Amino acid sequence: MPALHEVVVIGAGPVGATHALALGSGEIDVVAVDSRPAQTSLRGDRSLALSHAARLIFERLGVWSDLAATPQAVTPIVAIDISQRGGFGTTRLDATEQHLPALGYVVSYRALQTSLDAALARAGIRVEHGFTVERVSATPPCACVTGARDGVEESLTCKLAVVADGGGDMVSGIVRHHHDYGRVALVAHVWTREAQRGVAFERFTPVGPMALLPEGDHFGLVWTTSVHEADSLVALPEAQFLEKLKAAFGRHAGCFDRVSNRRSFPLFLEFTDRVVGERTVLLGNAAQALHPVAGQGLNLGLRDAWELAQELLGNPREQMGARAQLDAYAKRRRTDRWAGVAFTHGLLSIFGNDYALLRWPRGLALTLLDALPPLKRGFTRAILFGVH
Ligand SMILES: Cc1cc2nc3c(=O)[nH]c(=O)nc-3n(C[C@H](O)[C@H](O)[C@H](O)COP(=O)(O)OP(=O)(O)OC[C@H]3O[C@@H](n4cnc5c(N)ncnc54)[C@H](O)[C@@H]3O)c2cc1C
Repeated sequence: MPALHEVVVIGAGPVGATHALALGSGEIDVVAVDSRPAQTSLRGDRSLALSHAARLIFERLGVWSDLAATPQAVTPIVAIDISQRGGFGTTRLDATEQHLPALGYVVSYRALQTSLDAALARAGIRVEHGFTVERVSATPPCACVTGARDGVEESLTCKLAVVADGGGDMVSGIVRHHHDYGRVALVAHVWTREAQRGVAFERFTPVGPMALLPEGDHFGLVWTTSVHEADSLVALPEAQFLEKLKAAFGRHAGCFDRVSNRRSFPLFLEFTDRVVGERTVLLGNAAQALHPVAGQGLNLGLRDAWELAQELLGNPREQMGARAQLDAYAKRRRTDRWAGVAFTHGLLSIFGNDYALLRWPRGLALTLLDALPPLKRGFTRAILFGVH
C-alpha cells in the first residue's frame, strides 16, 4: 500500500515550487514532482516582470535574498512608460507615486527557477524530478497521481493533488476554454547605445503590444507579431532586425545597437471553468494562461500559490483537500482571477488592433490616466497587487 501524502504538487515550475515552499514552512507532508531533470529549466527562458507583491511573497519564502544576491539577476523597474503607435496619449507610472522603491522587478525565468530549486532543497522538500504525470484521478477520500519515470509507471496517492504543470490537461471533468490570438511573442535581448535607466516600455501597435523590460545591461524584448513575421524576424541578419525594431517601436527607449537570443512563443488565452475538483486544485497557468501584455500571468499564479497555502495552513489538518476547503479557496481567488483574464484580454481588444476609430478613445484613456493621479494610483495598485 503506497504512502498517503497530504499534498502532491504536480509541476515544480515557478508557481508549483512557490506553493510547495509556502506549505513546507508548516508541517504538511508535501511532495513535488516535475518532468524536467534536476537542476534544469526545460521551458524556454524569457524575461519576466515580477510585481512588488511577488517580491513580498518571495521575501517571506527566503527566495528573494538568494535571487537578489545573484549578479544581474534582478533589475528594478522604477517607471513604466505606456504609449500607442500612430496615436496621441502617453502615460508614465512611477514607483515614487506609489511610495515604493520599484514598481516591479525583471528576472529571467531561468534565474528564478534556479533560486526556487535551491530554496526547495534548503527547506528539505522532496522533489521527484524526471517524473511525468499523465493523469490525476480522485475519489472522495484521496487523489491518485499517475505518471512515468524512465518509462516505468509510478503512482502517488494524496489527500490533495495541486496541479501546477502549466497546462492542466491531466485532469478530466474540468472544461478548458481556449482562445488563440493568432500571434506569437518574439522575445530577445536588446542593447541600446544609451544605458537603460530602469524604465520599462509598453507600446501598443496595430499588430499587438510590444514591451521592453530593463534587465541588467540590456532590455528584454517581447514583441507581439504574426507567426509569419516572427519567423522572418528571427532569421534576419542583426542589422536588418534592428532596423525593423526601430521602425516598429520608435526611439522611445534609445538607439538599438545589438540583439541576441531571438525566439518565439505562441500566444493564447486559456482558462478553466473552475479551478477545483474532487481532491484537486489547478494553479497558475494550469488554471489560466494569459497573454503576456502587462506582465500579469506569473504574478497572478504566484498569488494563487500563496493564497492556497494560506487556506490549507489555516484549517485543521484533517480537512486537507476536503471539498468545503477547496470551494473556500476558489471563492477567495474568484475576483482576482477573472480580473486578470478580463484585464489582459480587454487591453488587447481595445489597444491591440488597427481600428482607426479606437485610436482617439485610446489616446484619451492614456491622457486621462496621466492627468488624474487617483485614477493612476488605483490602476497601478491593481497591476501590482491584483484585485481583491
Ligand atoms: C513571452 C512571455 C513573456 C511573459 N512575461 C511575463 C511577465 O513579464 N510577467 C508575468 O507575470 N508573466 C509572464 N509570462 C507568463 C509566465 O511565464 C507564466 O504565467 C508562468 O511561467 C506560469 O508558471 P507555472 O509554474 O504555472 O507554469 P510553467 O512555467 O509552465 O511551469 C510548469 C512546470 O511543470 C512541469 N511540468 C509540465 N508538465 C508536466 C507533467 N506532465 N508532469 C510533471 N511536471 C510537468 C514543467 O517542467 C515546469 O517545471 C510570460 C509568458 C510568455 C510566453
